[in-house]
Amino acid sequence: MYQDLSTPLRTILTPGPVEVDPRVLRVMSTPIVGQFDPAFTKVMNEVMEMLRQLFQTKNQWAFPVDGTSRSGIEAMLCSVIHPGDVVLVPVYGRFGNLLIEICERYGATVKVIEKEWGRVFEPAEIIEAMNEVNPDIVALVHAETSTGRMQSLKEVGEACRKQEILFIVDAVASIGGADVKVDEWCIDGLIAGTQKCLSVPSGLAPLTYNKRVEERIAKRKKVERGIATEEELKATNQQFIRSNYFDLSMLQDYWGPRRLNHHTEATSMLYALREGLRLVLEEGLEERFKRHAYHEKALMIGLDEMGLERFGDDTVKLPTVTCIKVPEGVEADEVRHTLLEMFGIEIASSFGPLHGKIWRIGTMGYSCRRENILAVLGALEGVLVYYGVSINKGRALEAAIRYYAEEQT
Ligand SMILES: *Cc1c(COP(=O)(O)O)cnc(C)c1O
Repeated sequence: MYQDLSTPLRTILTPGPVEVDPRVLRVMSTPIVGQFDPAFTKVMNEVMEMLRQLFQTKNQWAFPVDGTSRSGIEAMLCSVIHPGDVVLVPVYGRFGNLLIEICERYGATVKVIEKEWGRVFEPAEIIEAMNEVNPDIVALVHAETSTGRMQSLKEVGEACRKQEILFIVDAVASIGGADVKVDEWCIDGLIAGTQKCLSVPSGLAPLTYNKRVEERIAKRKKVERGIATEEELKATNQQFIRSNYFDLSMLQDYWGPRRLNHHTEATSMLYALREGLRLVLEEGLEERFKRHAYHEKALMIGLDEMGLERFGDDTVKLPTVTCIKVPEGVEADEVRHTLLEMFGIEIASSFGPLHGKIWRIGTMGYSCRRENILAVLGALEGVLVYYGVSINKGRALEAAIRYYAEEQT
């Protein structure tokens, strides 16, 4: 026989999934209602309203795609890319590569510029590449979780707007933890995540897009739905969107006043997102960003005191992920396993060229709390001492506790 489900209580300090606020877990057991029940469409509308506030946008369209964050990225890209479109993807970590992969699958001609992992682009470098390749779309990651860096967007957005290039942004790892201004930064389409700084389980991908995107996808509605004729499509050389599940024009008709049936809504996940958004707005965006920066600072002070070296260009550090270089001769994964086994604390490794070279500590959403920061500093020190790594003993916690005692958020 199988036992009752029982999972250990963990301290999760990875870049996702992170700990979920108990309030969110509680609403997930709220009874199911039908997706066209007025009680539920009210929930849908409230979620859209709250998402607009989170995204700092006046866009009409702000709703989640059912699926993990990459489902939102795929929905956005497959809906705007016409086969043959030129998409410029500036890559400075692993998630830039994901954008390339998805764009290629939908028939785009992808132009790539690359930056060494640990740094970001100067806006002028991206703008120069735009002038060279004359793209239809620029797709860019805001917060690169794999390297812990954050790319500035505003100047790129303004340049795209001037040149009538669509600007699509992956803000999965920053939304709810660092400032993201969709309208002010001239972002045409933006994708967020739930399991990172929103502290909601994985399974929805909130996104938003403006009129420029809406007009583009309206031209691509499938012929059979009687919205565009075959001739009209041929005349404009447009092709219909190749995915049914990810067709934003259909999702929009489901989320909008027409309420056309599409998929069966992930009811309990939407309850969770609603509560997660309520928590964000109760705290206040500014206060929430401040809280993330406050605990990030305590963590950095502690790691510095311990004598560990941080990875990457500090001037463009992502506040929600802190990367540390693994000291010479240390088995990176062994340390992580011991942290989990002995302390129930999970931190992350990284990908590709950085695997085994850095540890990543995520401080996102509900996980971003004083007791977690102090716990990981103490535990990491203990484990490193156990493995015979030479560090400054006994200083990290003292410094972090002093910081917390003296500094208010
Ligand atoms: C986590 C993450 C994703 C992918 O999210 P999934 O939920 O795993 O699909 C995409 N982009 C960035 C920047 C991320 O941090």
